[in-house]
Amino acid sequence: MFDRNKILQLIGVDVWRLRLQKKPPLNDKSKDSWVTLQNEVKSCELCSLHKTRTQTVFGVGDSKADWLFIGEAPGMDEDLQGEPFVGRAGGLLNEMVFSIGLSREKIFIANILKCRPPQNRDPLASEVAQCLPYLERQIQHINPMIIIAVGRVAAQNLLQTDKTMSQLRGRIHSFGAKKTPLVVIYHPAYLLRSPSQKFKAWEDLTLAKQAISKF
Ligand code: SF4
Repeated sequence: MFDRNKILQLIGVDVWRLRLQKKPPLNDKSKDSWVTLQNEVKSCELCSLHKTRTQTVFGVGDSKADWLFIGEAPGMDEDLQGEPFVGRAGGLLNEMVFSIGLSREKIFIANILKCRPPQNRDPLASEVAQCLPYLERQIQHINPMIIIAVGRVAAQNLLQTDKTMSQLRGRIHSFGAKKTPLVVIYHPAYLLRSPSQKFKAWEDLTLAKQAISKF
């Protein structure tokens, strides 16, 4: 059986390999730390949101995904079901993810806050300060190739800025010490209200796909 790559190398053709290789499976230690983190979040009472939540919303998907989507906080449906981005907005996010060749199972979806703020108000700075370390540990564990900040509040908290959505979207930012590429997209709840803006989310996800292909 001939080896195509070997032949190409022999005749002087550079063989390019896709660097986007599957991450190694979780070892026992890594699984333990993920489960420990899940349990810590489940029983967390660090801020007053624990008093009004139905349950915490840790996140869903592949804990070693290349793509990490981060929203703001659970809403009513998420609080009831214990999963981020469900209901109509979740359905649209699924479609957006599908449109770039991914699925909900292949990505990880989390929020800045793990508990629902009453009446879906914006997270308070004090709540974010208490909850963000959980997300930081999730990011450290998942080690994503790219982060997608879903909506203004998520983007402003992750990038520590008060810039507007139109200033934040359409470019590649970097997050944390590892300088993980970060792209900001419109929140699907906003896109349900303003469907004419959907093409911008498509542009931003395409930009994210281009960013990840450079690795
Ligand atoms: S929002 Fe975060 S910090 Fe506050 S109680 Fe829930 S898990 Fe704890």
